[in-house]
Amino acid sequence: MRGKFICQHLTNVGDVCGRNSDREEGCKIHWKRRQRALCKQDGCRRLTASKHEFCSLHVDKYHLKEYYHRMKQSALKKSALGDLGSPVKFLT
Ligand SMILES: [Zn+2]
Ligand SMILES: [Zn+2]
Repeated sequence: MRGKFICQHLTNVGDVCGRNSDREEGCKIHWKRRQRALCKQDGCRRLTASKHEFCSLHVDKYHLKEYYHRMKQSALKKSALGDLGSPVKFLT
């Protein structure tokens, strides 16, 4: 089956891929690659399909950071409210 789209993916030298494709996103090599992002960790060149844009090596670190952040937030909230209960009660 011949694709109706032309892959518009730019190669490293700036040429358009130009391969036939049945997807608007590009040929079967490039549309997949476009869904993958480079890991956000400095110096890491691994590709990732994760929404956090961290590869499997570094995504744990990301989750750990998130976890600590959440813990800190809820601890702050708790100490701000003290023993007064809900924030609605506090305001009225
Ligand atoms: Zn292509
Ligand atoms: Zn990584």
